[in-house]
Amino acid sequence: MVNPSKVDIVVVGGGLVGGPLAIALAQQGFFVAVIDQEPSQDLLKPDLDGRTTAVSYGSRLIFDELGIWGKVEHTAEPILDIRVFEQGSPWAVYYDHRDIGEAPMGYIVENRTLRQGIFHRAKEALDYVTWMAPASVTWTERNPEGVAVHLADGRILKASLLVGAEGRLSPTRDEAGIKTLRWDYRQMALIAHVSHEKPHQGSAWEIFQPQGPFAILPLRTCPTTGTYRSGIVWTGAPDDIHRLLELDDTAISAELQELFPYFGDIQVSGKRWSYPLGAMVTKGTVDHRLVIVGDAAHTVHPVAGQGVNLGWRDAQTLANVLGKARGLGLDIGAKTLLQDYQRRRRLDTLSILAMTDGMVRLFSNQSSALSFLRNTGLGIVNQISPLKRRLMRHAMGV
Ligand SMILES: Cc1cc2nc3c(=O)[nH]c(=O)nc-3n(C[C@H](O)[C@H](O)[C@H](O)COP(=O)(O)OP(=O)(O)OC[C@H]3O[C@@H](n4cnc5c(N)ncnc54)[C@H](O)[C@@H]3O)c2cc1C
Repeated sequence: MVNPSKVDIVVVGGGLVGGPLAIALAQQGFFVAVIDQEPSQDLLKPDLDGRTTAVSYGSRLIFDELGIWGKVEHTAEPILDIRVFEQGSPWAVYYDHRDIGEAPMGYIVENRTLRQGIFHRAKEALDYVTWMAPASVTWTERNPEGVAVHLADGRILKASLLVGAEGRLSPTRDEAGIKTLRWDYRQMALIAHVSHEKPHQGSAWEIFQPQGPFAILPLRTCPTTGTYRSGIVWTGAPDDIHRLLELDDTAISAELQELFPYFGDIQVSGKRWSYPLGAMVTKGTVDHRLVIVGDAAHTVHPVAGQGVNLGWRDAQTLANVLGKARGLGLDIGAKTLLQDYQRRRRLDTLSILAMTDGMVRLFSNQSSALSFLRNTGLGIVNQISPLKRRLMRHAMGV
């Protein structure tokens, strides 16, 4: 059993990225302490986070290796095709998973089941992972010998490496003075679950409107009532989203029906959530005995459902780099090693950031010149099979 006051690695933030990272590190034989400010039972509450996540096929393979997939698979709905179009335009792109093989393009999983699966898998790795929650860090010392993490309750954890995984507001990143480049899209996303008359057939739809993209993502049919269900991500200007949040279920369902008539009668019910949308990237992701991962290092617009998939690839790469270093008897806090990790993750991060940012800028406006470009682009992508297959593989994370 791990002695929590002396571990190999301290991960601050046990969210969608910090949790899988701890499991991946445990699989490499590292003793890990995870510190999260939220009590574990609160993180698992259905009301905390109503989002659904598009888990790419590549991320599913990572989850298989980490033993998480078996815990969430029963709730995952395969994405068999993706339909993208601009409202009012005849052009559309239709990505069919059969164009590149048998595997689905990804899966839609509710965040609450993802969190539960990650947490329960981490508990199975308890010999290696100590989950400390609720707990918070007051200050940290990083010196040539190691790291000391001082907790608010007076405990001190000693380790060789500190990882900041507290999401976009990461105090670990800010205290280390790691510079960020950030911008605001002046958009918000409304999240809700909907039920509908016709089955979704495994299709994920994305409709671009000048105010922002609207996505409807397939969820598992309700096992008790047989109701067809999907999750929606309705993006728009903050004033519009506040207005939608205030409508009653009948009024918002009527607006949704007008925007999206393809599944027959459609009903919004239950809690609605909203999130402001911005992007952020750090100038670097490592410092002396420190690494930052997930949304602490990069936050992207949810337009392509890529943000946390990027974070899972951070986790996989970091665990592999550290595992190999340990096998060679190297110090896992060594600067050259951490810089190697940083180099490996840079291209993926910047290309997803550029792709999502480009999509938002190209589609979220009413310029007629850009409208011509958009429609020509959609038409070209749909017609050129090698290009389409390349984009599909990229989205699938393989
Ligand atoms: C509307 C919307 C839809 C999205 N859809 C998708 C999608 O379909 N696919 C996709 O890939 N991505 C999607 N994303 C992005 C995805 O949600 C994020 O990339 C992901 O949540 C980042 O995970 P994280 O672990 O880095 O941070 P978080 O999920 O924010 O977790 C941070 C953790 O750190 C803890 N914490 C915070 N501060 C402290 C502290 N000071 N001390 C200790 N603990 C702390 C928190 O309690 C939390 O557990 C979406 C985002 C939004 C806004």
